[in-house]
Formats: sequence, structure tokens, C-alpha cells
Amino acid sequence: GQTNADLLARREAAVPRGVASAAPVFAARAENSELWDVEGNRYIDFAGGIAVLNTGHRHPSVVAAAKAQEDLYTHTSFQVVPYEPYVALAEKLNALAPGDFAKKTLLVTTGAEAVENAVKIARAATGRPGVIAFTGGYHGRTLLTLGLTGKVSPYKKDVGPFPSDIFRAPFPDTRTGVTVEDALKGLETLMLTDADPSRIAAIILEPVLGEGGYLPVPAEMWRALRSICDKHGILLIADEIQAGFGRTGKWFAIEHSGVAPDLITVAKSMAGGYPVAGVIGRAEVMDALAPGGLGGTYGGNPVACAAALAAIEAIEAEGLLARSAAMGSRFRERFAEIGARTAPYRMWDIRGLGAMLAVEFVTDFETATPDAALTKSIIAHALRRGLILLSCGMHGNALRIMVPLTASDAIIDEGLAIFEAALDDAVR
Ligand code: PMP
Repeated sequence: GQTNADLLARREAAVPRGVASAAPVFAARAENSELWDVEGNRYIDFAGGIAVLNTGHRHPSVVAAAKAQEDLYTHTSFQVVPYEPYVALAEKLNALAPGDFAKKTLLVTTGAEAVENAVKIARAATGRPGVIAFTGGYHGRTLLTLGLTGKVSPYKKDVGPFPSDIFRAPFPDTRTGVTVEDALKGLETLMLTDADPSRIAAIILEPVLGEGGYLPVPAEMWRALRSICDKHGILLIADEIQAGFGRTGKWFAIEHSGVAPDLITVAKSMAGGYPVAGVIGRAEVMDALAPGGLGGTYGGNPVACAAALAAIEAIEAEGLLARSAAMGSRFRERFAEIGARTAPYRMWDIRGLGAMLAVEFVTDFETATPDAALTKSIIAHALRRGLILLSCGMHGNALRIMVPLTASDAIIDEGLAIFEAALDDAVR
């Protein structure tokens, strides 16, 4: 049979190193929250394909919906011959999204594409060029979305320049001494020094900073941004690509704040493993571009739309929003127990929203210096023991939980036991 080592050698020869993989093993099959590699090793999957699998690997109704669609047609291009699954998904998203106003939805294929289109739409709707993003934000790897992304290494290294008229405001992170008040003061200063508010089309922010470290945006920050946007005629974009579709215990993480954004970008867990993404927004804003101004050959692929409708249905039918909250509590409890054994574990700051959680590792509690090496070692030991983990954070020293919301308590506990053992290995 195939070995991981042979495939790794072929991969290294055939695929550029810029596409990094967290695990040096190759997938053979996967089911719900478990995955098996080509050598038959079993893993519990706490990464969920980077927050894509809130409904698990191969959710039966998602797979059935995709297969049924494949037997009808797999591609016509919505721009040539439209089809109902696109319209049905748009209707569903318009109904689910917060905000008591008429909405429309554009479907595309990837998260980065959704963000690109949200900015295009905001520019067309306002007639303004500028966008304000935040420290540590992640919005994709295309050149515009890299411009919005607030982290140099590895994303922005060597590939600039990025589009102009992108400005950066501080993210409220109390651990580094930035309160909401400080962050808002920073934004106010930015609007005095560089970012003329009358030339700003949109402010974009993730409700829970994803790649940047699973830091939730405080509700008062959202409320302040909403009023700043209203005051200056700026559109507020919530990037829900990682936090959406039940991860935090709500359909959209911004719902925890009670604020309704003008535009929402979605992708990942919306379709349970199929590539489809979207921009949901105020109907009149979404209609800003003339016919032909939006789209792409594959945007809103019918198989992916059918999968998304089934994934959304599964989140509803299986009560996965409530499950996220319960799962989050369970993780917090166990992390607190493990973290209480502080020395020598150096586990710090259990944080997040619902089942969108992270823990951070530091060299010592006094200086709270990020320990990326320890984090890397924990990930390697966990993999060897059968648990897939993924890091995040500006310093790569946080571990994030993106386990399927369909995972059983038994699987979660088994994964947590492996996590604890991997910590032991890593500090030994
Ligand atoms: N925005 C956020 C918040 C994300 O987490 C991601 C992906 N990690 C993206 C945008 C980009 O999505 P994609 O990788 O599908 O282009």
C-alpha cells in the first residue's frame, strides 16, 4: 500500500512549498470527526478542514444532496443558464442573516473571493475607494484580501505591493493592553491622519478574529463601529467566513452583539466540505453593480449549493447551535482543569465564543512571552497520538478548536485526553 513518506516525497517534488500542510500524513477517508490516513492510522479531527466541517466529514444528508444534484447537472454557469439551488441558497441566507431589511446574496466559490466582492460592492454602492481593516485580521490570500489581512508573515511576505486605500485600525485586545476605548481612539486618529471618512467605503472585521487568534470582538466595539459607519455613510462588513454557521452558537457570530452589519461574507462551514462562498447584504447595496459586474464561471456551483442547503438544514435539524454552546462549555472546563496544572504546562488564556475556542502557550506566566515552539511540539505529539490540531494567533502560539459540532462527547473526551498527553510529551 501507499505510505505517508512516499506521498510526502512526491508532494515535495510536485507541489510548491508555499502550500504548507499542518500534518505530514495523507488522507485516505474520513467520517464525521474522524479521519484515517493511507497507512490506516486513525485521527480525531479538531481542525475540521479549517473550520469547514461544523456538520462533520461527509455528513450523510450533505453527501446525499450532492449526489442527487450530480445526477441532474453539475455545471451550467449561473451566468449562462441559472438554476434553482443557487436561488434557494440565496433565499435561505437572506432569511438567516441578521438585520430587519431586505437582503440579496451573491454566491462565489472561496472566502477570499467573497471578501473581494464585498469590497467591490461597497465601493460601487458608496462611490468611495477606502477600506478599513484591523490588526491581526485575516481575509484571504488574493492581493486585495492580503492588503486587508493584518499579518505579514507568512501571508504578505514578498508579494506586495497591495492595492491602495486600505487602512488599518487597532484590534481591541486587552491581553496586549488595547481596550475597546483604545481601539476606537486609534480608529478616530486614523480618520484624522490618513483615512478621510468621506472616502471610506467600508469597515471590515471578523466577529471572532480567526487566523489572528480566536479573539472575540466585544459587543461595545461592534456597537461603536455601527454608529461610526452610520455617521459617515460607511458600510459595515462582518467577515463570518470562519465564525459563521454555528461555530459560536449562533448562525452568525455578530448576532452575539445585536448589531446588524450591511454586508456579511460567508464560506467554509456553510456547505459542509464543498466550495461555495457568498456575500449577503442589504438589497439596494447588493444591486449597486450593473449586470455583468459580478460573478465568475463557477460561482454558486449547483452541487455545492445543494450541499450547503443540506448542511444548513442539518444545523437546524440537529440543534447544532445549542450543541456549540454545550461543547464550548465542556472544552472550557477541561482546558481549565488541564491549565490549572500550570507548571510546567504554561497554558494561558482560554478564550473564544461557543465552540470557537483557543488556548495559548507562553514561556512563563510573568512575561507571557508567546511559545510557538512548544505549540508546534504539542501539535506534532498530538498527531502521533491520533489528534489533528491547528495553531493560530499573531505569534503562532495558540491552538484552536474547530471540531465538528456533530462530534460525540466520547470523541471530544478522547481528543482532550490525547491533547493532555501531548502536552506531557511536549514539556518532557
Ligand atoms: N476570511 C476569514 C475570516 C477566513 O478565516 C478565511 C480563511 N481562513 C478567509 C477569509 C479566506 O477564505 P478562503 O481560504 O476560502 O479564501
